[in-house]
Amino acid sequence: MRTTRLHVDRERCIGAGMCALTAPEVFDQDDEDGRVLLLNPEPPAAQRAAAQMAAGVCPSGAITLHEPELGGS
Ligand code: SF4
Repeated sequence: MRTTRLHVDRERCIGAGMCALTAPEVFDQDDEDGRVLLLNPEPPAAQRAAAQMAAGVCPSGAITLHEPELGGS
């Protein structure tokens, strides 16, 4: 089964909050510094599209997705 793994770079995050708005089940923002908190690094299929969209809208490029290779073991 393919699993998407998410990674966030809190050093790059500028606290714009687009990720938490786009995929609130996957991302949140720190109450203290406003930076991203990753709630679920391996989102289920139902949340994957939103997580991908969040990575696309993040203005600082702090969110990366790692898709397993097709056909890999
Ligand atoms: S959208 Fe990007 S910059 Fe904004 S809070 Fe999320 S990770 Fe940080």
